[in-house]
Amino acid sequence: MKINILTLFPEMLSPLKQSMLGRAVDNGILELDVTDIRDYTEDKHNRVDDTPYGGGAGMVMQIQPILDAYEAKGYGGEFIYMSPRGEMLSGELAKELSEKEEITILCGHYEGVDQRALDKLNAREVSIGDYVLTCGEIPAMVLVDTLARFVEGVLPKEESVLEESVYSGLLEYPHYTRPAEYDGMAVPEVLLSGDHGAVDLWRWEQSLALTKEKRPDLFDKYLESDLKLSKKEKAILDKYR
Ligand code: SAM
Repeated sequence: MKINILTLFPEMLSPLKQSMLGRAVDNGILELDVTDIRDYTEDKHNRVDDTPYGGGAGMVMQIQPILDAYEAKGYGGEFIYMSPRGEMLSGELAKELSEKEEITILCGHYEGVDQRALDKLNAREVSIGDYVLTCGEIPAMVLVDTLARFVEGVLPKEESVLEESVYSGLLEYPHYTRPAEYDGMAVPEVLLSGDHGAVDLWRWEQSLALTKEKRPDLFDKYLESDLKLSKKEKAILDKYR
């Protein structure tokens, strides 16, 4: 999959070169192309923004450097503008975008972007939440990170993205690792038992309890789904209904 990012601050995107995403890029599973919009400005002072028509606070990113950068780099695919007024990022949206061959993401700054650039590139606006950040680079990294998890080969083979919190319909159970006891705090016995059936049941019950407590909306949705439960599971679920 090819992911292009148009930005005024390419250095802000350097975390994408680390860890699992960095490896996916090194292995050719993801192709990441970051472009500094400022390199394409025709302004002799290197400006890329100006005051808004009609007045008001802040600056607006200009159309010319954005369109010229897009054209010169031969970018294509779904064009996404990170924006607090966009559709909310979700697991479903991340999965949908991960199935595209190419996407191009525009990171805004200041007050935002000249609307004509968004109209010309047929932008789909995506928000990462009902709050406002100073820049689109952090939202772009959130989007890339979460959609990359759906791209085959990005996660290690044994990890399935669908088993994670939320995607499975429930929040994930708690994890523990060595030592079995630390400063009087012990790992739950069942996890040391070697009884895989009991471990699975315990984890599922933990997930039910956590989801009911923290995300009753998800819990109710889970109850409405087509659950195929064993007798033991049914007895556990009845405690949480
Ligand atoms: N004036 C804009 C508004 O009220 O919608 C906010 C501009 S914000 C200060 C600067 C840039 O940060 C935006 O152009 C956008 O790219 C990005 N941004 C801020 N909050 C965001 C969010 N919740 N989701 C996605 N992008 C966001």
